[in-house]
Amino acid sequence: MGRSIEYEKLTPAWAEAELQQLNELFRKRSPEALLEWAARRFGEKLVLTCSFGGPSGMVLLDMVARLGYETPIVFLDTGLLFPETYALAEAAAQRYGLTIEYRRPALTIEQQDRQEGPQLYARDPDRCCGIRKVAPLAEALRPYDAWMTGLRRDQSATRAGVELLQWSTRYELLKINPLAFWGEREIWSYIYTYDVPYNPLLDQGYRSLGCVPCTLAIDGGDPRAGRWVGFAKTECGIHLG
Ligand code: SF4
Repeated sequence: MGRSIEYEKLTPAWAEAELQQLNELFRKRSPEALLEWAARRFGEKLVLTCSFGGPSGMVLLDMVARLGYETPIVFLDTGLLFPETYALAEAAAQRYGLTIEYRRPALTIEQQDRQEGPQLYARDPDRCCGIRKVAPLAEALRPYDAWMTGLRRDQSATRAGVELLQWSTRYELLKINPLAFWGEREIWSYIYTYDVPYNPLLDQGYRSLGCVPCTLAIDGGDPRAGRWVGFAKTECGIHLG
């Protein structure tokens, strides 16, 4: 049947049929197999983003390090994250010997307060996320052809259709979600098996972690229900489109 699909040269804008084939192929394989394929296929053009909030990003970080790849790691630092999140980013960099690239918004909090008025997150969280997350991420992704994330189908209703591989029209690159079909059981099993560091707030009632002003500890329900409480918003926007 000729060369394996894994080594075909593929065009930058991936065709739906090719993605479907790859999705079918990797549905039968482990997240590590997809990660290895992505690392070999894209090399230094593959980037992993990690929030150091939820456990999925930590699992991927551990897989990258354990499998010996030097995939660039990007951390979106909004300036409003929990101290535990910053501490985990530093601890993980030390433990894994990784260089983590901190990407920050064009505006400091003080500049944003002057330009937009104080506490923009309490009035217009979409605009706040746009300034502090979406714009810096778009800039950070510019040099890359593929973006690996810890998105999972079970995280929320809005993520229920996440694929292992999908084309991102917004960022014009291939988005790779090796843990798309894992649930909490698989994630925590991996974390305990490999002694992966994780955010201690996850043991204190927080089930999804973002910026301090927009994150609450919750009891049960959708894992992301503690984010932007009081707003219809459920996504910061970086994973839309
Ligand atoms: S999560 Fe909240 S504080 Fe953080 S960027 Fe979005 S709106 Fe702003």
